[in-house]
Amino acid sequence: METQHSRVVTYSKNVFIPVTNMCRNHCGYCGFRRSPDDPGAYIMQPARIEEILHRGAKSGCTEALFTFGERPDEDAGYLKRLKAIGYNRTLDYLLNLCRMAIKMGLLPHCNPGVLSYAELALLKPLNASMGLMLETTAHLQVHEDSPGKVPGKRIESIANAGKLKIPFTTGLLVGIGETRADRLESLRIITELHRQYGNIQEVIIQNFTPKPGTPMSGHEPPSFEDMLWTVEHAREILPADVAIQVPPNLIPPGMLIEHGASDLGGISPVTIDHINPEHEWPAVEQLGQKVGSDVILRERLPIYPQYIRQGWFSEDIQSLVQHLASDDGYRKVEKWRS
Ligand code: SF4
Repeated sequence: METQHSRVVTYSKNVFIPVTNMCRNHCGYCGFRRSPDDPGAYIMQPARIEEILHRGAKSGCTEALFTFGERPDEDAGYLKRLKAIGYNRTLDYLLNLCRMAIKMGLLPHCNPGVLSYAELALLKPLNASMGLMLETTAHLQVHEDSPGKVPGKRIESIANAGKLKIPFTTGLLVGIGETRADRLESLRIITELHRQYGNIQEVIIQNFTPKPGTPMSGHEPPSFEDMLWTVEHAREILPADVAIQVPPNLIPPGMLIEHGASDLGGISPVTIDHINPEHEWPAVEQLGQKVGSDVILRERLPIYPQYIRQGWFSEDIQSLVQHLASDDGYRKVEKWRS
């Protein structure tokens, strides 16, 4: 029962589709990336993606989260593989995957790394929202071989999404060598972007988790106290209409919610967290136990209610947004079952 002390915490139901693990960057903490010649490098085939989307739609998901390594097209070995499935550039493949998702009743949320204004403009009509982790505004050693992690490039990409009125997810990766002062600076920059463009719907505060076989495998992850400090400061600094998201498969969310977090991100009943495969998502039915008894859990779409009200979506997805959203902009309750 909702009381005056209740807090609303949101989540979305998604399918997580890592379209390729090939990437031009070499982040020191990444266990996901592969080079084209590495064993395990892949581009997911359209038929495989169609099958995942189908299972997601049948399970009541509303979001197709498409993730990538960043700008894999810079490598000739990758392009050869892409051509083998009929595409000359990843962007065209992604546009078709978005169309496929919409046709199957899922709203795309693409996360392909740094993009130009022109690339974002092509993706905007087919996406309910998009994402790019800022991670940090600091220049860190873990990013020295990652041209896409130059903070200025990521800030520019988020600003371009703002100019195009794309509801946007960004975030901080905590514990990769940045200082607390760096985190405050990152939060201030995100705040400035939101004040200027109004497009930041949520900021993920994500804890680094060490991955075997990576240069940072022996690096200590941030303590819970450090995460709490970061969430508290994020809530103080960020505008009130920007949600703070914490990943419930990487950290117990209860106390973080008491200190300002209000979203649990995409929870998938169908797919694993491919970036953190060793950390299972809780079942949607178990979320209630993790968040505290005074919390009202509400399912949202990949586009937040305020952006639905403001009409920040295209004609291409208008009927799907209207079909999935309730009058207050959250997920229409259980409509997917009918
Ligand atoms: S950009 Fe992403 S996929 Fe690429 S190396 Fe960095 S963390 Fe890994």
